[in-house]
Amino acid sequence: MPIRVNPKLVNEIERYGAEDVSKCYHCGNCSAVCPHSTQPFVFPRAPMRLLQMGFESKLQNSLEPWLCYYCGQCSEQCPRDAEPGETMMSLRRWLISRYDFTGLSRLFYRSWKAELGALLIMAVLTGVGFLLWGFTHGDIRSYDGPNAFLASSAVHIFDWTMAVVLTLFLTANCVRMWWFTVAGRKDISVPLLSYLRGVYLIPLHFFTQKRYAECGHKTSWAVHMVLMASYVTMFVLIMFFLHAVQAGPEINWNVHIFGYLATAGLIGACIVMLRARVKKDHVWSERSHASDWMFLVLLLYVSVTGILQHILHRSGLGMAANITYVCHMMGVVPMLLIEVPFSKWAHMAYRPLAMFFADLTAEALLAKEKKPSGLSSPQLAEIG
Ligand code: SF4
Ligand code: SF4
Repeated sequence: MPIRVNPKLVNEIERYGAEDVSKCYHCGNCSAVCPHSTQPFVFPRAPMRLLQMGFESKLQNSLEPWLCYYCGQCSEQCPRDAEPGETMMSLRRWLISRYDFTGLSRLFYRSWKAELGALLIMAVLTGVGFLLWGFTHGDIRSYDGPNAFLASSAVHIFDWTMAVVLTLFLTANCVRMWWFTVAGRKDISVPLLSYLRGVYLIPLHFFTQKRYAECGHKTSWAVHMVLMASYVTMFVLIMFFLHAVQAGPEINWNVHIFGYLATAGLIGACIVMLRARVKKDHVWSERSHASDWMFLVLLLYVSVTGILQHILHRSGLGMAANITYVCHMMGVVPMLLIEVPFSKWAHMAYRPLAMFFADLTAEALLAKEKKPSGLSSPQLAEIG
């Protein structure tokens, strides 16, 4: 079957951040130094070559960009300054846009103005919606109790509705990823048993990011781990313990201690990451895409307003706490409905899935190699 090429693929990827793909002359230094480049996933030279040749569908079906953790060793060793690490990062952004059936990722990654505009519109709609709800159902001076401006029971229903919407978007896009990278491939077949055997890899890589630790940058890995653990803790608190989190003004240490630790983790990790991007003191932080900034700034904003409304409530300042809470939700909703499914946060879902799919693919390729050719003994003797 003829393979269609896209001669403008390099230009397309440039819109996702990669700038120097054309400089690559395929010496292979980058693949030699990459700690994660092993058969059957050899990179980043191979994806660089596919890009230059315009093999769009091959790249769309590839998992290699997800196996890279942007340690930057390849970029440091590249004699042509072709920035293969940055190219892999840009390919991940491009792949997110290919998995997304709505086309919003493509729009947001290619235009920071569109992403920022969508975030602002969503924030304003959220603010107006919450204020209207509050003024018609409660008293702005009251944070909790029967006259609460934003009763935790109503917010709880809203949070779960958001979670369902978010899950639907992400699931649809994850299914597309699975189709592109595993199920739709004609050259491999993955038995159901392999799926069942390997499914543990998804939570394993989600919670440990263990391949990142193998990159040799333990500090970066630790910061990511703090961010992930804090985010998951906060998510569990909000989805399952919201009433206890918002009750007060007494501090319920059994619950609130987890919130304080998660908040400290989120704020600390955001500051460390933002500082690295401002100082550009690592290969991975030398170049920042607009989505990198939006992700960190939004997360910092949400964390700070979250703890601030909590402090104001405990201080007996009901009105200030309610206003801050509305401001907090004006960050939370755009973050969950725009950033998570359509931008940088989507990494959280796709990367552990990619580890699982890579394992399935490697196993299927190995099984294919071992499989008898199907030729009869005389035929094989003839070939020999
Ligand atoms: S990206 Fe650089 S190191 Fe890698 S193959 Fe190309 S020229 Fe060589
Ligand atoms: S940035 Fe690191 S993990 Fe990614 S391709 Fe380069 S050497 Fe490999």
